[in-house]
Amino acid sequence: MFDWLGIDHLVELTAAEAVLGFLTPLIVFAAFFVLQMVLPGRHVPGYVINRETGQLRSYRLNGLLVFVVAQLLWWFELTGMPRDWFYRSSLYAVAGGTVLTTIMTIVAVFSQPEGEVENRFLAWWFGRAQELQFFNGRFDVKMYFYVVGGTMLSLNALSGAAWHNDRFGDDANPGVFIYAAIFTFYVFDYFVFERVQLYTYDLIHENLGFKLFWGGLIVYGWMFIIPLWGMAAHPDPGFTSGWRYFWLIGTPALFAVGWCISRGANMQKYTFKRWPDRKFLGLIEPQVIEAGDRKILCSGFWGAARHFNYMGEGFFSLSIALVWGHFGNLWSWTYFIFIVSMFTYRQMDDDKHCAEKYGAEKWAEYKARVKYRIIPGIY
Ligand code: NDP
Repeated sequence: MFDWLGIDHLVELTAAEAVLGFLTPLIVFAAFFVLQMVLPGRHVPGYVINRETGQLRSYRLNGLLVFVVAQLLWWFELTGMPRDWFYRSSLYAVAGGTVLTTIMTIVAVFSQPEGEVENRFLAWWFGRAQELQFFNGRFDVKMYFYVVGGTMLSLNALSGAAWHNDRFGDDANPGVFIYAAIFTFYVFDYFVFERVQLYTYDLIHENLGFKLFWGGLIVYGWMFIIPLWGMAAHPDPGFTSGWRYFWLIGTPALFAVGWCISRGANMQKYTFKRWPDRKFLGLIEPQVIEAGDRKILCSGFWGAARHFNYMGEGFFSLSIALVWGHFGNLWSWTYFIFIVSMFTYRQMDDDKHCAEKYGAEKWAEYKARVKYRIIPGIY
């Protein structure tokens, strides 16, 4: 089957390596726990209100530092682990990580009092607690997920690029290196703006169930590189020079457009939530619909579509589909398909939450004013 799928190179480990691959997430989780606890961080007030105390939650952030240290450890092989290990052990790590996150979720969910969801499977899937913090707030489970998931995403992509380079040498596909560079930039950017993430869906709406444990640690950390599983085994597509430049410049440019939309929209919302009267970038005046003591932003990016930020992710995922230069290969398109499906669902779900939060009437007013969900003029 692996042969047919074109990923037989991912099942070439010896028995001892396979066991080590299975245990890799456990070792990685422990190492990140130590790094996150030991490295200095800054305490910041968040956006989400603690349901028990009614106070704003506070977070200790040091993602950027953990990311940089982890990168140095990997690039210079300071742990003795070969650079291609993460990639070669991908399938075993996903299996081990899935078992591990299943157990972690059982502990995290069933150690909490029963909430509104009585069905035990649904409670395990969606979680009971909105947040878990330990060691006097020094360790926050959701922030840990994103530090591990984001950094491992970058390291897995880089590891695949290292494997590809060793395998193909002069015939290596530059698209593979651009892919790893794009994801590394994407995650780096996330950590630079780590505080902005405190104002997003996962922190506001999600509880700590398997969906978030597995999604944050294993899907984000290991499985977001699924296109690479199929594409790292292919050499340079060999375009003639005109098309080659178009492809090699066009795909990063498409990513850059997507990044500007997503980052711009996220920063505008963040600026608005912290300083409601401030013009975004000194240019875009906040226009709002008043909904009791809440305000719906409806200018700038948030006036173009109700989730224009998701369109940025769409462009980004399209650049990931095109970056390999093997346009007809289905592996190239897996991330794009996943992102489009996830954000189509997420937009509808967020719309529902917002209608409850801001009141159906005010949200309908926003929908009438900003007609499109994600793509201005189209959807
Ligand atoms: P948002 O940042 O859009 O957060 C949604 C929340 O923002 C809403 O619940 C609401 O919360 C508030 N909000 C929405 N519209 C308005 C408005 N018009 N005025 C005021 N407040 C509003 O979504 P996400 O958290 O899903 O995404 C954050 C970023 O992370 C995005 O760029 C996304 O693309 C990216 N992302 C990427 C993923 C990936 O896999 N590549 C996965 C997840 C996210 P409230 O009213 O309580 O403030």
